[in-house]
Amino acid sequence: SAAESQAISLAVIPGDGIGPEVIAEAVKVLQAATATEAAKFELTEYKLGAEHWLASGETLSDETLAKLRTHDAILFGAVGAAPGDTRIPSGLIEREMLLKLRFSLDHYINLRPAKLFPGVPSPLADPGEIDFVVVREGTEGPYVGNGGALRVDTPYEIATEVSVNTAHGVERVVRDAFRRAQARRRKLTLVHKHNVLVHAGHLWRRTVEAVGQEFPDVAVDYLHIDAATIFMVTDPSRFDVIVTDNLFGDILTDLAAAVTGGIGLAASGNINMDRTVPSMFEPVHGSAPDIAGQQKADPTAAILSVALMLEHLGLPEAATRVQEAVEKDIAGRGTAARTTSEVGDAIASLL
Ligand code: ATP
Ligand code: MG
Repeated sequence: SAAESQAISLAVIPGDGIGPEVIAEAVKVLQAATATEAAKFELTEYKLGAEHWLASGETLSDETLAKLRTHDAILFGAVGAAPGDTRIPSGLIEREMLLKLRFSLDHYINLRPAKLFPGVPSPLADPGEIDFVVVREGTEGPYVGNGGALRVDTPYEIATEVSVNTAHGVERVVRDAFRRAQARRRKLTLVHKHNVLVHAGHLWRRTVEAVGQEFPDVAVDYLHIDAATIFMVTDPSRFDVIVTDNLFGDILTDLAAAVTGGIGLAASGNINMDRTVPSMFEPVHGSAPDIAGQQKADPTAAILSVALMLEHLGLPEAATRVQEAVEKDIAGRGTAARTTSEVGDAIASLL
C-alpha cells in the first residue's frame, strides 16, 4: 500500500558499553525530528557485540547478515569488550562482526564531517572556521588482510601488510568526494603520499585528475599526509572535502575530531551509494567501558550520526533540523554536567 511504501525500515544495533545509552537518545531525537515527516520509521533492534557473543556464541551469522540487508539503513552504537576482559579474544568482534558487516555491505565510503560548533572549545589557539568532511575509502588499502608473517618470533621475522588499491575502488570513492565537494564549497583535497607510495599514490592522483574533468567547477588540491596533519592544526579552514585512503583517513579523522572538540561530537557514516544496500551510521567513539552504565556519555555524536542518516535517506529537512537543534543545544551548554538522557531530552525538546 502507499502507506507501507512510506515506511523506512531501520535496523538498530545498540551494542556494548555506552552504545545502548547513546543510541536510546539518538532514537529519541530521530522520532522527534521525523514526527512531521510523511515517512515513518520502523525500528528493529538487533543484539550484537561482545555481550551478545558471550551469551549466544554469535559474532555475526549469515542469517543475521541476511536480515540486516533487508533494511533501509542501520543505526549502530558501539561494540567491544572492556580491556582486560579475557573471556573475549582480542579483535574477534571487530573482525568477525564489524569488518564482516562493512565488507559484506560494501561500505566503500567512510564519511566523517568535522565541524567546530560555536561554543565548543578547540585545542587550537586560533581555529578559525572549521567545517570540512573527510571521505575515507572504506574497503581497500592496508585493511584488507592481504599480508603474512614469516619466521614469526625469530630475530628474522618478516611481516607484510599489502595495501590494495583498485581502479574501481579508487574511482568510486573519488567520484563521490567530487559530488560532495560540488554540493559544498567546491574544493577537493586529495591526501596521500605519492612521492614514497608511488604505485598507489599515482593511481589516486591519475584518478582524481581524470574524474576531475567531469567536475570543472571543483578546485583540486593535493597534500602529502604529513603536510595534511600540519595544515589540519595550523590552517584547518583551508579544507572543504578531503578524499583519502583507508589508513590515512583513519588517522586524519581522529585528528579532525580532536581539533573540533573531541570524541563526544564526532559522527560517521559507512556508506554504499547503491540504495539497495543499507548504509550504517555510528558515532566515531567506541564502547567506552570506563564510563558505561553511568549516564556519563555524551550522546551528541550518535545524534549527529542520525542527521547524516536522514540526509542519506533523502530527508534533508529533517537532517537540518537535527543539526540545528544540536548546534543550539551546544551553544547553550554551560559547565554543569548533564546526564546522557538529559542531553537527549534537551535536543529532542528543541525539535
Ligand atoms: P574502540 O576500540 O571501540 O574504538 P577506544 O579504546 O578507542 O574504543 P572509546 O571507547 O572511544 O575508546 O573511548 C575513549 C575515551 O573516550 C574513553 O575514556 C571514553 O570514556 C571516552 N569517550 C568515548 N565516547 C565518549 C562519549 N560519547 N562521551 C564521553 N566520553 C566518551
Ligand atoms: Mg577507537
